[in-house]
Amino acid sequence: MSYVEPAPIKDRENPFESMMSRFHIASQALGLNDEVYNVLKNPVKQVIVSLPVTMDDGSIRVFEGYRVIHSNILGPSKGGIRYDMGVNIDEVKALAAWMTWKCAVVDIPYGGAKGGIRCNPRQMSSGEIERLTRSYTQEMFSIFGPDRDIPAPDMGTGPREMAWIMDEYSRANGMTINAVVTGKPIVLGGSTGRAEATGRGVMVSAFAAMEKLKINPYQSTVSVQGFGNVGSHAALLMEERGSKVVAISDISGAYYNPDGINIQQAVEFREANGGTLTGFTGGEVIEGEELLTLEVDILIPAAMEDVITVKNAEQINARMIVEGANGPTSARADDIINSKGTLVVPDILANAGGVTVSYFEWVQNRLGYKWTRDRVNRRSDRIMRESFERVYKTALKYGVSMRIAAYIVAIDKVANTYKFRGGF
Ligand code: NAD
Repeated sequence: MSYVEPAPIKDRENPFESMMSRFHIASQALGLNDEVYNVLKNPVKQVIVSLPVTMDDGSIRVFEGYRVIHSNILGPSKGGIRYDMGVNIDEVKALAAWMTWKCAVVDIPYGGAKGGIRCNPRQMSSGEIERLTRSYTQEMFSIFGPDRDIPAPDMGTGPREMAWIMDEYSRANGMTINAVVTGKPIVLGGSTGRAEATGRGVMVSAFAAMEKLKINPYQSTVSVQGFGNVGSHAALLMEERGSKVVAISDISGAYYNPDGINIQQAVEFREANGGTLTGFTGGEVIEGEELLTLEVDILIPAAMEDVITVKNAEQINARMIVEGANGPTSARADDIINSKGTLVVPDILANAGGVTVSYFEWVQNRLGYKWTRDRVNRRSDRIMRESFERVYKTALKYGVSMRIAAYIVAIDKVANTYKFRGGF
């Protein structure tokens, strides 16, 4: 193979570059040829738009918006829209590629995309955000579409913005097209089960991994970093099924109770306490870093990227890590974790329950029908379990970690489809 290797691993801790380095390792293991490697590495389309918006004080500000389609080989591209001051084209490109691998690993018929607008939504009024979102949608009119490219929420956006995008896109078409976005409010065609879908997938992955390591779930202990959407749902569902969650944390601090934290109580406390665990008394207060190194069966990082790095990988004492967050482990930490024999269920597999139920939302919209919560859960659980098995078997077959195996499964799927569709 003659394709150019990315910069040496020692030079990076950036989660996106970590992701690309794993793509490279998996491509080599698969023996991917140069043509396909380069096709899969480079995004199909990158769009940058200027968005003039009338602010509440009457002035006009121009924002920059992005949408990158990394791949549409498996189907229409799918990926969130981020509103943040840090948004830039390189980040959007990397996040779009990440979506390609995530959709492929769980075998849903989507390519990968990502979008964003460089703005600070916390300093904007609802009216300003609405005008910005509608303006972005108008500029992306030829990019978005239920058969072309389907956005979803990401950092700084949620059901409200998705409703505006759906409405603006529908108006321009003269009819209601709710399948153009997912993550909508339920009344507009959002799916039941979406809110807990990612945490639920993390739980299903953790249980599948416990089976492989012959850990009795009723005797298992868990620590969870991050108590937001992903972390709190994962913790609740693990507890419901008999695991003992001994530590949780959020931005306010970390809480440890060797007898098990009452997660339902912690959720209620958070709800009544402005969304944080500040002052939670259901566990002893410990350092956030200590939570990561506790002797537990399962560690679930579900807060942010790059928390397990060369600095602390050696001190990790969990038997397995189930990655709820995107990119919580740096590429440099991979080798250390692997050499300790810790099983890692990687992000692109473990947190794919969210995009799976987004896919179900799109399917329901296109059917003009609503599934019950039970049907959504059963089908997403099945996809998560089957995907886990596929990745586990691939890891054994190639003698690689589950992370590299997940990339192998994803790249192989996209590369094969590309070969059938034909190149240029
Ligand atoms: P969220 O904003 O709902 O929750 C994040 C949580 O992490 C909060 O409790 C916050 O207080 C906590 N946190 C922040 N910094 C922390 C720190 N230093 N130490 C401990 N806790 C800290 O976000 P979310 O939707 O739950 O997403 C969490 C992660 O999962 C992100 O990496 C996200 O990209 C990823 N993810 C989310 C979804 C989804 O469906 N929500 C899907 C796939 C991946």
